[in-house]
Amino acid sequence: NEGLGSWPARRARKTPHRTALIHGDTTLTYADLYERTTRLAHALRGAGIRRGDRIAYLGPNHPSYLETLFASGTLGAVFVPLNTRLAGPEIAYQLADSGAKALVYGPSHAGLVAGLPGNTDVRTYVEVGAEYEALLAGAEDEPIDQPVTPDDTCIIMYTSGTTGRPKGAMLTHGNLIWNAFNVLVDHDLIADERALVSAPLFHTAGLNMLTLPVLLKGGTCVLVEAFDPSATFDLIEQHGITFMFGVPTMFDQVARHERWAGADLSSLRILTCGGSPVPTPLIARFQERGLTFLQGYGMTEAAPGTLFLDAEHAVSKAGSAGVPHFFSDVKVVRPDMSPVDVGETGEVVVRGPHVMPGYWGLPEETAASFTDGWFRTGDAARIDEDGYAFIVDRIKDMIISGGENIYPAEIEDQLLAHPDIVECAVIGVPDEKWGEVPRAVVVPREGTSPDPDEVLASLAGRLAKYKIPKSVVLADELPRTASGKLLKTRVRKRYGTDS
Ligand code: AMP
Ligand code: MG
Repeated sequence: NEGLGSWPARRARKTPHRTALIHGDTTLTYADLYERTTRLAHALRGAGIRRGDRIAYLGPNHPSYLETLFASGTLGAVFVPLNTRLAGPEIAYQLADSGAKALVYGPSHAGLVAGLPGNTDVRTYVEVGAEYEALLAGAEDEPIDQPVTPDDTCIIMYTSGTTGRPKGAMLTHGNLIWNAFNVLVDHDLIADERALVSAPLFHTAGLNMLTLPVLLKGGTCVLVEAFDPSATFDLIEQHGITFMFGVPTMFDQVARHERWAGADLSSLRILTCGGSPVPTPLIARFQERGLTFLQGYGMTEAAPGTLFLDAEHAVSKAGSAGVPHFFSDVKVVRPDMSPVDVGETGEVVVRGPHVMPGYWGLPEETAASFTDGWFRTGDAARIDEDGYAFIVDRIKDMIISGGENIYPAEIEDQLLAHPDIVECAVIGVPDEKWGEVPRAVVVPREGTSPDPDEVLASLAGRLAKYKIPKSVVLADELPRTASGKLLKTRVRKRYGTDS
């Protein structure tokens, strides 16, 4: 097994007694992780899971998430992490689309799982807790020798799409391993790393920029179910945390907290911030405590590390997303794929062994997102004279709210289902806490005047809470081109600021 599934066995051979995972009062050594992963793999195989089958996971950060990932990899099966913030119909879509045969879920999601439609391929449901533990206890612990190659798909991670339907990015074992190498090279990780994993493991960053590289090195990951700034201070002190990853919103809440001034942060060595640009005042506030951010730019499809700004350049190149990771190639190009000149804005494209082979079951979307082997990110950037990239805009129509991506099309589809809405556009508006929040601009059916609260209430339960607009503006019409194409930039200009 040349894939990720072999990591617990390899670690158990080298460092069986070192601590791999901490979660509440539970501590698992690498030997424990290997044994539990092997038992789970036997149990899943007993339930009929074979190489290439999909196994979904729905729940907050917990050792069982990593055990299920490694057990899938042990069998050559494909792990499908689901976003815990999604509504029932959104989860049902991803289960059906991936064709998952098994679902491991946390007790917090038992209600949602009980309400799922029966028309998916899921035949095995395992609830984390007593049921999961009983399954492991009843399973064999003999090593499993299943051939897996770096080109086999390891994970299908759903990412929202411009079309309104999420797409499953297929990440191979090789993609994840090369990304982990990039993190090891560029972050100077050591074996004694103690990482605080409060970013959700169902997103690419928490898993691939933090947890997997630390486990590859033999360090310790402290898993936290939900980010809480006060608990963060306790955990840093209690576990001597050396490495943290977060989106700017998380670090902002830490820096604004009343315990900030008195907290002992002396163990911290590596702070990585990614997912959206880090505001300069936030960089300054951490710098007052002697802490410098490593900053990253990337995306699910690139597993995700793409550009990286090291500590040395955090100030001199403030605002930049940096230069490509070691095993990554990045260009900023014009529409004809020719490279831009210094200072000129173009689209970021990326190529490398960490870039996905494509979207699950979507050959046309896959073809459309690559040109000459380069993945088109839909992000706009310029490059300075030293080759540092500055992300300046998004070409794709996407909102980032508290680290969660929102594609307006998904919300617009749901709004149009409202009987009194004939046209609509969802835009991002600035928000102090979340960076951006969605706003709906709607054109009511003639003679009606829909109540904004009622419009928003109609979305509840159909969309994840973070996708539900924070405000609704009624408009007589939306700006369109002669051919009828919606002019989103005009909508943003007219309705994107509070008057
Ligand atoms: P995801 O697939 O959820 O990881 O989201 C990827 C997208 O987030 C990218 O295509 C960018 O639009 C945005 N993004 C990620 N990192 C940064 C960054 N450092 N600066 C600006 N935008 C970013
Ligand atoms: Mg995405």
